[in-house]
Amino acid sequence: MLALRASHAFDGARFLEGGATVLVEGERIVGVEPVGFPVPDGCEVSSSRGTLLPGLVDAHAHLVSDAQPGSLERVGTMTPEEIDGEIERSLAAQAAHGVTTVRDLGDRDYRTLGFRDRRVPGQARIVAAGPPITIPGGHCHYLGCVAATPEELRQAVADHDERGVDVIKVMASGGFLTPGTDMFGAQYEVDVLRSLVEAAHDRSLQVLAHAHSVAGIEHAVAAGVDGIEHFTGFCEQGSVLSDDLLDRVAAAGILVDPTMGNDFSLVGQLPPPPPQVADLIERLGLDIMAFFAQRYVDVGRMRDHGVSVVPGVDSGAMPLKAHGNAWIAVTDLVRCGYPVDEALAAGTSGAADACGVGDVTGRLAAGYDADLLVVDGDIESDPAALGRPQTVVIRGRHV
Ligand SMILES: [Zn+2]
Repeated sequence: MLALRASHAFDGARFLEGGATVLVEGERIVGVEPVGFPVPDGCEVSSSRGTLLPGLVDAHAHLVSDAQPGSLERVGTMTPEEIDGEIERSLAAQAAHGVTTVRDLGDRDYRTLGFRDRRVPGQARIVAAGPPITIPGGHCHYLGCVAATPEELRQAVADHDERGVDVIKVMASGGFLTPGTDMFGAQYEVDVLRSLVEAAHDRSLQVLAHAHSVAGIEHAVAAGVDGIEHFTGFCEQGSVLSDDLLDRVAAAGILVDPTMGNDFSLVGQLPPPPPQVADLIERLGLDIMAFFAQRYVDVGRMRDHGVSVVPGVDSGAMPLKAHGNAWIAVTDLVRCGYPVDEALAAGTSGAADACGVGDVTGRLAAGYDADLLVVDGDIESDPAALGRPQTVVIRGRHV
């Protein structure tokens, strides 16, 4: 038996007065007790004056990609061995930062599924989409799954299901990282996208749509997707998310992952943006920092409208989004106006629920997997403490 004791604790929903002692046997939590609980003889105890909480969940990662400029595109030309090496390094970085569950929303050749199924001790749990589905020449086409017609989309869903994916990822609009894709339009007509959603739902698979544009978001909503990634709101006027759209997304129960978690301390060291991004910035007259400031306002508005927000990062996709930035995505919610406990719940139990693993991880409760994080400081008064991990345990194993 193993015990983690800390002066402050958050159980996935609320702060526990006076801290807690969490007892672990094998892979599981077997007890959540007061901080002074006398542990059984022979139980190894680690104590902290910081905060004990469930490990974080990054709801949007690309484990195949190392966040260097152009790294996601490069995956298209990497060997399986190179891809596996990248996945291993990404998982190590995630675990080192207290991320105990990663939802991968775009790999190549289903390589992440092997890691998911091997359950290597101390390695984060994986929820995997396999290669994202996109139009020919569309966003992330280089990851290897293109489908244009309803028939091709149904076949793509069937192939993904046969390979054992946990969720379907489809590209409903263009993306920053793929030159030549349409950042303002939609990649699929509504009826075509709906055929993918129906095929997935028939197989009990949820559908997450990548959408930056208002047109892409509207098509995804009309097609009945379960979640929308990015949700930027690009249109010719800039970045606009109307109250009406937010109300409809809330009413439909569609989860939104605004993919925040950017490490802005790196902004000064960034290389010049790729040409398609520079074009977009110029076309919209965007000031990058003003754009991100607007995002904080918009995500606060999502909360006001009752939209359920899942804090993913899109880690690995670009230099500001390193693997392990999930803690930044949670503290970003606080900057957006979320109370600290609500932001932490979104990044632990809420994200675990969204990823379909909320019955095994994301909470300090007996019977749950011992996916635990201890950080240096009291998160309740100092949310940035979340970025100072002291101890990480995944399925009962110290990382
Ligand atoms: Zn992504």
